[in-house]
Amino acid sequence: MQKVVQDVVQEVVQQGRLKVVILGTGGTIAGTAAQAGDTIGYTAGQVGVAALVAAVPMLAGEALESEQVAQLDSKDMTHAVWLALAQRVEAHLARPEVAGVVITHGTDTLEETAYFLHRVVDASRKPVVLCAAMRPATALSADGPQNLLDAVQLARTEGAAGVMAVLAGSVHAAADVRKVHPYRADAFSSGDAGVVAHIEAGRVRRHRPWPEAAGSGSRRLRADPELWPRVEIVTSHAGARGTLVAALQAAGVDGIVVAATGNGSLHHELEAALVAAQQAGVRVLRSTRCLDGAVLDAGTEVLSSAGALTPVKARIALLLDLMTGG
Ligand code: ASP
Repeated sequence: MQKVVQDVVQEVVQQGRLKVVILGTGGTIAGTAAQAGDTIGYTAGQVGVAALVAAVPMLAGEALESEQVAQLDSKDMTHAVWLALAQRVEAHLARPEVAGVVITHGTDTLEETAYFLHRVVDASRKPVVLCAAMRPATALSADGPQNLLDAVQLARTEGAAGVMAVLAGSVHAAADVRKVHPYRADAFSSGDAGVVAHIEAGRVRRHRPWPEAAGSGSRRLRADPELWPRVEIVTSHAGARGTLVAALQAAGVDGIVVAATGNGSLHHELEAALVAAQQAGVRVLRSTRCLDGAVLDAGTEVLSSAGALTPVKARIALLLDLMTGG
């Protein structure tokens, strides 16, 4: 009986009858400029997600559904949008006729939204795929349509799971992806971990296992994002002082992530202020300013390290830890 059900599901997948739900949040992929040659003076988050889908001829006739969750430049991403997005993703993943969910997003904070969803949404059985573009929808060589097509392809791929991002033909795991270039179309990297797969001519060429799912459900989050713990990021640098840390403490922060130098080392003045903040009850996490690699602990450190998490992802990890207790 189970075999029959599996065969039917496989046939449905092969025939493309399972749906992919595309959630729009804005970004450059939905951006417009007055002239086709303009790839920097544009406004992000202008075109609705249904129009983005309609602009890809190869998606015509596919089993797709779209929904606009937000319409913003992702530099302005909020915790409220994250909560709404997590809830909509969960609702669609729970539908038996849905193969996976695609999210159109801005590139600026894509890695943060991806990591947040990775930690919150249970994507162990179906994939959640973020896609974006470095050039607006009106550009001569817009990259959004191909990225969207690749994302839908990945969301339909049998056996795929986990939260991922697709840009310029590369598939990145949410835990590893980061934006590394402010302009070029191939602007993302997975650092030391390497990409999960490449998508070439509609085919997924996988290099390592699908990312493990780590989400424990949005119901564990506080319903009012205004009441989420406040976690800020400070940077250790030449001439650093403790004044910023003291100001954050005075403002009532719950946690501080420090983007430390090298292997998690800190300017001694900043370190003294962070240790004092920790003693006063503020949670402190050390990450590294380095683009790749992880903070390796000797085991004697007073301030915990964030391992391989970048500062912006360490902020999310600490935020969730403070809110849900791990
Ligand atoms: N500022 C834009 C955004 O993140 C940049 C982009 O999407 O490429 O929404």
